[in-house]
Amino acid sequence: MKKAFENFEVWFVTGSQHLYGEEAINRVTEDAQEIADALDAVAEIPVRVVCKNAVTTADEILKVCREANNTPQCLGLICWMHTFSPAKMWIGGLTELNKPFMHLHTQSNRNLPWEDIDMDFMNLNQSAHGGREFGFLCTRLGKTRKVVAGHWQDKDVQQQIGKWSRAARGVRELESLKVARFGDNMRNVAVTEGDKVSAQAEFGFTVSGYGMGDLTNRIEQVSDSEVENLVSAYAQDYANTEEILADSERAESLRREARIEAGLQAFLDEGGYTAFTDTFEDLHGLSQLPGLAVQRLMAKGYGFGAEGDWKTAALLRTMKVMGEGITGGTSFMEDYTYDLKPDKNLVLGAHMLEVCPTIAGQQPSLHVHPLGIGGKEDPVRLIFSAPEGPALNASLIDLGHRFRLIVNEVETIVPESDLPNLPVARAVWRLQPDLKTAAESWILAGGAHHTVFSQNLNTEHLEDLTEMLGIELVVIDSETRRRSFKNELRWNETAFRKSC
Ligand code: MN
Repeated sequence: MKKAFENFEVWFVTGSQHLYGEEAINRVTEDAQEIADALDAVAEIPVRVVCKNAVTTADEILKVCREANNTPQCLGLICWMHTFSPAKMWIGGLTELNKPFMHLHTQSNRNLPWEDIDMDFMNLNQSAHGGREFGFLCTRLGKTRKVVAGHWQDKDVQQQIGKWSRAARGVRELESLKVARFGDNMRNVAVTEGDKVSAQAEFGFTVSGYGMGDLTNRIEQVSDSEVENLVSAYAQDYANTEEILADSERAESLRREARIEAGLQAFLDEGGYTAFTDTFEDLHGLSQLPGLAVQRLMAKGYGFGAEGDWKTAALLRTMKVMGEGITGGTSFMEDYTYDLKPDKNLVLGAHMLEVCPTIAGQQPSLHVHPLGIGGKEDPVRLIFSAPEGPALNASLIDLGHRFRLIVNEVETIVPESDLPNLPVARAVWRLQPDLKTAAESWILAGGAHHTVFSQNLNTEHLEDLTEMLGIELVVIDSETRRRSFKNELRWNETAFRKSC
């Protein structure tokens, strides 16, 4: 994947006014530059932080907001009120602003100089009340924004800014994302369907359907040398490739899968697609269900959804972009089967084949096994287990009149057995707050069996994303109680109702 954050920036916009004289405005400008430069250098903030001139009039505010709207590399604004900035000046600009913004409620100095403080200091350092004036206006205008309070050098403040900028990048990704759908939906499955017109109107991404012949034509054009290059790459990446190549039948399967990988990637790249779906019910012209190919494409950053699941494909791609550079992976996932022993209450997550090796806790191994469904040749797949640690599952569903994102925080664990007979990659997790509450809540919320499983993003990233998108987020975490969760669903039905 290209560096997802290269060439993107957020603008640091400082509000003030002319009441305090030129000297004060100069100090405001200097302080703003110092803070913006410091934030720009923070590793957790993956985009450039660009300091704009302090804004002191309604015209200047409108101008910077319009400039942000018209600057493609600008993902959004960080607004800070160093002094009081009478907020009627902000009405014009904020009304026109069509990019995400955050209100950083901080002040230049961390400590109050108790011995030296005088009225000059008081006039300059007014964010405690200047921020409230700005906040009122944003609320009065109904503007969704993230509010982050605390000193700008605090780690948690910087991390919050980083998460917000990753979410803003996610919004940008969704605006131009293209999903290729090979074959249609798995027949009769409900949750993977949805309204693609609504999705495009809400998020911006498009979904284009292709018959399998379009894909198989491209796969047939793959040269033998491309296939051999990929097989060499497999031998570098997976220790047991030689073993498969030593068996002529399995070697042939591996080469056919390599051809699928090369053809599939070429098809996607040539069409500008960064996410795709397939379905095992429609493999016409393919020798096997793509397993290894899909796994490797996910690891390269493509989004994927099985059985025609275009919403999960788009979400996976978006979350991969948002999480770039953070330790831990992100994968297509399915809640597969349970361990309901009272002291265990675990979920074994997997799919038929398609789990992304970015969540592998060890070097994946390459295998050829029968699939049991689909009626095609034994597919090639990578097998591995996810490492222990915090993770989440996220599911984007279409409720008919609107979209909902459901997140369940989980704790990935290493199972006590090696699962020697299970020929698929997997993750095993404990649900927060417990299996009973989590599964009941997830099901009441309508969460899908397909999810995006992430060990690098956390709930706050997705909270910021859904707020920017204006869609509902429900979170199942250690605090979740069934009765209040049910009420939240009821209340949200009203809160998120759209006038048609
Ligand atoms: Mn599935």
